[in-house]
Amino acid sequence: MRVLVVEDEPDLLRVVAATLREDGYAVDTAADGEEALFKAKAWEYDAILLDVMLPKLDGWSVLRRMREVKRTPVLMLTARDTVGDRVRGLDAGADDYVVKPFSLTELKARLRALIRRSAGQAVAVIEIGDVQVDTIGKLVKRGDAIVPLTATEYALVELLVLHRQKLVTRTTIYDHLFDEQDDSLSNLVDVHVSNIRKKLGRDFITTRRGLGYVIEG
Ligand code: CA
Repeated sequence: MRVLVVEDEPDLLRVVAATLREDGYAVDTAADGEEALFKAKAWEYDAILLDVMLPKLDGWSVLRRMREVKRTPVLMLTARDTVGDRVRGLDAGADDYVVKPFSLTELKARLRALIRRSAGQAVAVIEIGDVQVDTIGKLVKRGDAIVPLTATEYALVELLVLHRQKLVTRTTIYDHLFDEQDDSLSNLVDVHVSNIRKKLGRDFITTRRGLGYVIEG
């Protein structure tokens, strides 16, 4: 899952980005509203964490102008919890919000729920045959045994499972798994798919030749 974190306070930006990367997200960052709007329009993020008070262009304007072209789920980071702010956020097309100072645990929970909802998955543990994908624990079980996956393998499984029975193109995989800091060596999707099949069975992922991949279960 690839997210954009927009925050002009450098320490907070660093902590949030590092926490999400540790959790396996690909994370892009922006420190002002113009950079945020540019990236939000340029890339297909799974979610955007958007601060309200930003230099150059405030969070409300970023949200409004992005919503003209994109449906990307947005979690607003607001400084005040007032009815006026909440109404304004929902009217402007925000999907959820957290109030500063927020706990990183709460932020991560809201983000997971937001990404699941936008993919049409209400439950946190998704079952495909004898495979269970736990999107909270970020682990995969087959029967009762935990299957050891690398962070990238897990991220790919989660992306495919959240869009199960739908074709996920190679472009979509590149857009959602790798962030602006990744080098090209981590982008070997075929290798990751092959490794996942060794661990979860050949039939777990179906290749649509020349198009992409699908989990049919
Ligand atoms: Ca700010």
